Amino acid sequence: MDKQQREKEDEGALLYRFAHLVLPYLEPADLASVSATCKALHVVSKAITSRRISDACRYLENYPIPFFNSVDSELYPNSIYTPVQTLPTSPSIPSLCWGGDIGGGSGPVRRDPFVVRVEGAHGCDCESCGSNCPCVNFSRECGPSCGCGSECGNRLTQKGLSVKLKVVKDRRKGWSLCAADFIPKGKFICEYAGELLTTEEARNRQRLYDKISKSSSFSPALLVVKEHLPSGNVCMRINIDATRIGNIARFINHSCDGGNLCTLIVRSSGALLPRVCFFSSRDILENEELAFSYGDTTLNSTGSQCFCSSACCRGILPAEHT
Ligand SMILES: [Zn+2]
Ligand SMILES: [Zn+2]
Ligand SMILES: [Zn+2]
Repeated sequence: MDKQQREKEDEGALLYRFAHLVLPYLEPADLASVSATCKALHVVSKAITSRRISDACRYLENYPIPFFNSVDSELYPNSIYTPVQTLPTSPSIPSLCWGGDIGGGSGPVRRDPFVVRVEGAHGCDCESCGSNCPCVNFSRECGPSCGCGSECGNRLTQKGLSVKLKVVKDRRKGWSLCAADFIPKGKFICEYAGELLTTEEARNRQRLYDKISKSSSFSPALLVVKEHLPSGNVCMRINIDATRIGNIARFINHSCDGGNLCTLIVRSSGALLPRVCFFSSRDILENEELAFSYGDTTLNSTGSQCFCSSACCRGILPAEHT
């Protein structure tokens, strides 16, 4: 091999290694343009794209949730994944690695679900939490202030996904979360994970999203859950924004008849903030779309069209007057 040939091969090897390190950080459009420049980069970006399509959760859940699209050319939607709720991040989120071959296969990395803890709070001291556990008796899950570990049976919603799901693109509704297997009634599906906002922040973002939605096909995922006292007064309001950063719950569409999911506000001992969790409200068949009611409080006349196709469809998506 002469010197020139060797140098050329070294260059090729370097480009290849470099591509494996850099390309997983690229946005879909940039990845596509890099892919078109040469054969080596095309091969690497093709592998990254297929890994991205194979798991919407970026290897952060117990098993992958693939994307399926037979209606148009969008391969996968791009947003940052978090398996648990987070505090608001700065507007410019640095790009994160997705679809690289390094780190895949190391198994799910569950992050602690509690962003804010109550210092000095008392949990239980059980060896094994059953009907005598004070947490169970106060209808809350065990949490950071309990003596029991992650194996405790009273931590149902803290162990990540336990049902098989997939994200399928619908011609009219866009990306939708569907069952990839039969799901019996009463099963924990997932948490609604995203950025936890104050009501003021939520209102500011809602105004911004309303503005953007008017000029583009932008789909915000800002959920407002209100807890009511028996008197009907709101006693607690949780604002979770999964638009830029969130988990697979952001793909759950609205259904005017309430769909097949119910939302439950779950509290845990020693955690300051409750979490919003989805459970199946009836048996769900394989391939069936998951849906819940986004709320019926105020119907905003500028809301988007609803395609839930339920018998009681109001034709327009509910929009909260925040
Ligand atoms: Zn206990
Ligand atoms: Zn426990
Ligand atoms: Zn406990």
